[in-house]
Amino acid sequence: MHLSSISFFRFLFTTLVLLTCSLWLPAQKNLHEKSIVVDTHNDVLSSATLKGLNIEEDLSGKTHSDLERFRRGGIDIQIFSIFCDERFGKGAAFAHALREIDSLDAIVARNPRKMMLVNSPADLRMAVRKKKLGAMKGVEGGHMIEDKMEYLDSLYHRGARYLTLTWNNSTSWASSAWDETYYDRQQPTPIEKKGLNDFGKQVVRRMNELGMMIDLSHVGEQTFNDAIAVSTKPVIVSHSCVYALCPVPRNLKDEQIRTIGKNGGVIFLNFYAGFLDSTYNRNKADFINKHQPIVDSLLQQKMPAYEIDGYLSNRFPEEAEALRPSMNILLDHLDYIVRMIGVDHVGLGSDFDGIELAPQDLDGVEDMPNITSALLVRGYSRQDIRKILGGNFIRVFKAVSK
Ligand SMILES: [Zn+2]
Repeated sequence: MHLSSISFFRFLFTTLVLLTCSLWLPAQKNLHEKSIVVDTHNDVLSSATLKGLNIEEDLSGKTHSDLERFRRGGIDIQIFSIFCDERFGKGAAFAHALREIDSLDAIVARNPRKMMLVNSPADLRMAVRKKKLGAMKGVEGGHMIEDKMEYLDSLYHRGARYLTLTWNNSTSWASSAWDETYYDRQQPTPIEKKGLNDFGKQVVRRMNELGMMIDLSHVGEQTFNDAIAVSTKPVIVSHSCVYALCPVPRNLKDEQIRTIGKNGGVIFLNFYAGFLDSTYNRNKADFINKHQPIVDSLLQQKMPAYEIDGYLSNRFPEEAEALRPSMNILLDHLDYIVRMIGVDHVGLGSDFDGIELAPQDLDGVEDMPNITSALLVRGYSRQDIRKILGGNFIRVFKAVSK
């Protein structure tokens, strides 16, 4: 081919690429900004705020979240997880939950121009209209009601709009995914019975009456089925992924995904590399083995096992970076659910600040727009993307609220 025609075609190609980018990037930005973006799970209160970090300051490099980065990420509604682990037993867990709620209320009160509390669909609409971060509360772990229905009521009245029936630990009335999985081996925590007992069923009924969403992340399959059988309302799974793509006890099996479809509920995808990428746990085990003496000394200093991964990732950032899967893997989990039960049943529950490692291009809450771009690349319509980003959550929130 003649040189000038090559130059011409190169010119034409470059022009087309530039034109496509200049049309497409603003379209993506516009779509993300105009959509109501909801994230159903963020752990920054328990992992950072209660340890003295202030999300009103720039915490880049220290956390996944702070107020400015929520704004940059275009997040309209953030559900903050109220969490403590099983070491907070009776007499301590409920009080701890109230302290976390107090912390969030104080942050919102100090930032009236940037944030507002959202307790109802009407509040949600107002937060969006006023362009403020709508702060919601979800209690992660039934142990925080300490087997008392009045504590459930109190948490609702303090603004908790979902309760995750269990965390990794079972309660006396509901078995967790962890305990159900290892039930037959009677370890690590033997449970007497799988699923919900009578009190557990009463908890679900009371949540229906109050207008509180039933969250089935972390629960065992029997608890999952019992809760859906009892609930008269759609349920949520606030931060879990697909078992067929990454077989860990915390993820949902195909039958459970179909059940969510029939129930009208929504599965919000967790961004944790270990729940998305089936090769991650093996690679991470190699990484941890390499640093075993440090792990041993941390365990001796009584650091909880689930915080050790995060510690190692911060201390050896380059090694941790090499463990990160591509963001495509999150979209693979999303596609899987959409193919099975449709686009009305999936959303985003990042688990930021509760996970030590997210996929590439998802460094923190500021990177949420990258998901909108990836959804466009996969061919999702603008209408479907708006459902995934927030519309599906709003549907369930309205259906459950009184
Ligand atoms: Zn969790």
